[in-house]
Amino acid sequence: VSRLLRDVEVEGRRVDVRLDGGRIAEIGILTPRADEEVVDGRGGALLPGLHDHHLHLFAMAAARASVDVGEGLGGLRNAEPGGWIRGVGARESVDRHVLDALVPDRPVRVQHRSGGLWMLNSAALREVAHVLDDSSDVERDERGEPTGRLWRYDARLRPALPTTEPDLLGVVDELHLLGITSVTDATPDLDGDAVRALSGLPIPVTLLGDPGGDAPRKLLLRDHDLPPYDDLRDEVAATHARGRAVAVHCVTRESLLLTLAVLDEVGRHPDDRIEHAAVVPVPELLRGLTVVTQPAFVTTRGDDYRRDVGPHDLPHLYPYAGLLAAGVRVVASSDAPYGPLDPWEVVRAARDRELGPHERVDAGTALSSYLPGRVQVGASARLCLLHVPLAEALADPDPGLVRRATWT
Ligand SMILES: [Zn+2]
Repeated sequence: VSRLLRDVEVEGRRVDVRLDGGRIAEIGILTPRADEEVVDGRGGALLPGLHDHHLHLFAMAAARASVDVGEGLGGLRNAEPGGWIRGVGARESVDRHVLDALVPDRPVRVQHRSGGLWMLNSAALREVAHVLDDSSDVERDERGEPTGRLWRYDARLRPALPTTEPDLLGVVDELHLLGITSVTDATPDLDGDAVRALSGLPIPVTLLGDPGGDAPRKLLLRDHDLPPYDDLRDEVAATHARGRAVAVHCVTRESLLLTLAVLDEVGRHPDDRIEHAAVVPVPELLRGLTVVTQPAFVTTRGDDYRRDVGPHDLPHLYPYAGLLAAGVRVVASSDAPYGPLDPWEVVRAARDRELGPHERVDAGTALSSYLPGRVQVGASARLCLLHVPLAEALADPDPGLVRRATWT
């Protein structure tokens, strides 16, 4: 059965759009058919469904079942009764003694909002003792006892944790409410079960972490422990040799320069990406690469950056306009759950940022990086219908303007 979206705004023109079989079948001034469902668009903009270029679906699902401690660790006391407590969004880095004082009797693990650090209390450390290795990722005190801080430890921690079914479908609903109809999951090194679960979702998911996939392959550089140049070079060269681009996580000046040096030697794949590019002293060096940025970090973490980022890096933090001016392709994204998922908040942040105002871009530029392709005959019916014309939405970006996403 076909559907007719009447009186919608497509690229500035008010038209009717017929959907059939998950595709756009016709665009023009169209007469409704007897058997078709008609939606009155009332002049609202019809956009391609938005694509978030960098997020983490499993972590988003897990965050839905977690205690948000972004406003302070005291929130852990409000956890539902039961076994493990999982906290997310912590602003501070604390050891097990601090957590023991808050929750002495249940295992607690708290994720720093950077995503790279887990902090466990003593009860939790006892539960996971058999997966703690001798690497520097397990911080230890002078007596050799774990302090509770575990760096980049997700994969090694998982076997020791209780299994819970992540609510991935709940995440997909959340995406649709915001107008997002496809995503790129940037989690590195997914196992077979994870690849199957994400590929089976009712939304197209590009997987940077699928070891056997053909999307750019996520390489996570550990910022406090960068790999030797030769190791990274060999890994990038091997990935390119399989015809696959790389997507390299770079949040420091050092990691970016290391990556650029490696790409200079091994050559660039046209789809190579830099994830975050948090500090870019010389935008011109990134020409030919795609930068996947997170404009909302600058607004939601601005105070932390002002305090923690060195004076030499601060003027180069999360560039956007400067990269575009240098001819670099830039796409905006959320990095949810570590940044706000809402693309309309991201667009607003790109336009209004206070930190580095010279890096502002207009709302239309930021939004267009979320739009895969155009609304045209043959394109997917994964669309995003707004309540208002596009100009109005760009003047005041807000998720409440999304009327409906996807008709597949
Ligand atoms: Zn990420």
